[in-house]
Amino acid sequence: MDQVVILNRQLELLTKLQTIDLKIDQLEEKKKQIPNELNKLSGGLEAFAKQLEALRRRIDEINKLRRKKEGELELERGIQKKAQEKLREVKTNKEYSAMLKEMELHKGKISALEDEILNYMVMLDEENEKLKGKEREFQEEQATTLKEKEKKQAQIAQIDGLLLEKAKARDEIIAGLEERPYQSYVRLREGRNGIAVANVIKGICQGCYMMLPPQTFNEVKKNNQIINCGHCNRILFWANS
Ligand SMILES: [Zn+2]
Repeated sequence: MDQVVILNRQLELLTKLQTIDLKIDQLEEKKKQIPNELNKLSGGLEAFAKQLEALRRRIDEINKLRRKKEGELELERGIQKKAQEKLREVKTNKEYSAMLKEMELHKGKISALEDEILNYMVMLDEENEKLKGKEREFQEEQATTLKEKEKKQAQIAQIDGLLLEKAKARDEIIAGLEERPYQSYVRLREGRNGIAVANVIKGICQGCYMMLPPQTFNEVKKNNQIINCGHCNRILFWANS
């Protein structure tokens, strides 16, 4: 647009104002997205933390079950020991074989409990290994998230800086604009999706994509007065194409 020669000062200022306002719109839109992006980052980390918490709870549960079985095992071993002592005091064969049967039963229970406990131990090893891996991943994720957040915060600061610059440039342009063209620009921007000033390419208004009458196009090409599009009413200028 720098090469474009606009002879009418008001029209020139309006095209500049339009360029700046679009840039401001863009920056504000970008800035508006950042809190969402920050929330997404925090949300991802929270979900990960919940996974870790669930894994830790599972390990606690397994540990509880293991301890319960260990308690039962100790009890069984105690009973077994007492039975063994009693066995020495047994007087009759009948009593003896009954005691042996009972001891066999306890032996079976003990061996089953030992198997169960062993299974829990294997499970605990696996889950603890998994937890260690997840905790490492979580720390990495945490560091990445922090960096990303800092980047986003810096982006906000950068956008704010640019917005301030643009606002200053905008004020300067508006200071040079007469009341009527400025008010017309403001109304058009409100009613025309932010685009009040439209370029014309090959006779076509780039605001509404309608063909201008040849005579209007010839007038617009001169860039020496404010002409509105007959279709969308936008302010027209010609950028040499
Ligand atoms: Zn138009």
